[in-house]
Amino acid sequence: MRTYKNTEQLWNMIGSGEKIVLVAHTNPDGDAIGSISAMYHYLKQTGKTAVMMVPNAFPDFLSCLDPADSRIRIYRNGPQECNDILAEADLIICMDMSGPSRIDEMSDAVFQGSSAKRILIDHHLNPVTDPFDIVISDTEVSSTCELLLSLILESEDINGDIAKVNLDCATSVAAGILTDTNNFANSIFPSTLERASLLLKRGVDRDALYNSIFCSYSASRMKLMGYLLSEKMEIIQGGSVAFITLDKAEKDKYSYCTGDSEGFVNLPLKISEVQMSALLTEDDGFVKVSLRSKGDLDVNLFARQYCNGGGHRNASGGRLYMKISETAAYFTASIAEYFKKA
Ligand code: 5GP
Ligand code: MN
Repeated sequence: MRTYKNTEQLWNMIGSGEKIVLVAHTNPDGDAIGSISAMYHYLKQTGKTAVMMVPNAFPDFLSCLDPADSRIRIYRNGPQECNDILAEADLIICMDMSGPSRIDEMSDAVFQGSSAKRILIDHHLNPVTDPFDIVISDTEVSSTCELLLSLILESEDINGDIAKVNLDCATSVAAGILTDTNNFANSIFPSTLERASLLLKRGVDRDALYNSIFCSYSASRMKLMGYLLSEKMEIIQGGSVAFITLDKAEKDKYSYCTGDSEGFVNLPLKISEVQMSALLTEDDGFVKVSLRSKGDLDVNLFARQYCNGGGHRNASGGRLYMKISETAAYFTASIAEYFKKA
C-alpha cells in the first residue's frame, strides 16, 4: 500500500491548527464534498472542529454528506462572513482542487486575505503548489477521498485500523470514491478496491449510498437527458467525437437544478466508435466544458490548450468565454486541429 512521505508533517500541522477551514472546488461534486466532510468527521473524532466552505451550491443528492451539526458554508451566499472566517483562520486545508483558479471568487480570501498556513490534498494532474505549506498530491488514486483515507489510516491515532475510523467519515470517503469512479467504472487502481473493501468492512451502507447518489434524479432531469441524446448529440471527427450543447432556455424548459447534468457527458462514450465526449453548458458569463475520453486519448491536454481548463487524462473540464451559439463551431474546429496535431 502506498505511503506518503510528509504524512507526519501533515498531521502535526493539523494537530496545531486551532481555527481550521476545509475548502473544496467550485461546482462541488461527490469527491469535493466527500473529502471536506470526511476530514471534518475525522477531526471531530480527534477533538477538533473545522468550518467547511465551498464557492457555490452543491447538488441536492450530496446533502446526505452535509454534517447536521455544522453545515457546509456556501461562499456565494454570504461572502463577507466567509471572508471573516478565512481571515481569522490559522489553517486552511484545500482538497480536490488543483489550484487557486478552481475556487473562483473565493480564491482572494483563501490565498491573499488570510495569513493561515495552507495544505493541499489533491489527485489532479499539474497542481499549483506554490501557495501551500504542505502538498500531498497523488494522481494514481481514484479520488481525493481515497487519498485522504490513506492519510487517515497513516495517522498516529488510527494506525492502520479501519475500525477506529468513525462511520460518518468512512461514508463520506465512500461517497467520493463512488462518484469519482462513476460507481467503479473508471479511475480504478489496486489501492481503490483495497480501500473500498476496508470501507465495506467498516460498515458503510453501499446500497443506501448508491441509491442516494445514483437513484435520486427528478423526472425533469431524466427528460432533459432523453432530449439531449435524441435532439442535441452531434457526432464529428469521423464518428470518434461526440458533443452536446445545453443552453439556458433548455435549462429553464427542463427546470434545471445544480447537478442535473452530472454524468451526461459519459453517455456518448457508450457508442463503440466514440473515443471522446464533450458537454458544453451555458452558465453566467461563460460556457462550462466537460470532457471525457476512452483509453489513451488525452482530454487534459485538450482542456488546457482549447478550453482554459485541465483535469485528468480521461476526465477534464474548462470554460469558454463566448456565446453558447458559437461553441459548436469553435469546438468542431478545435477538435479538427487537435486530432491533426496528434
Ligand atoms: P467535470 O466535467 O466533472 O466538471 O470535471 C471533470 C474534471 O475536470 C474535474 O475533476 C477537474 O479535474 C477538471 N476540471 C473541471 N473544470 C475545470 C476547470 O475549469 N479548470 C480546471 N483546471 N480543471 C477543471
Ligand atoms: Mn476528485
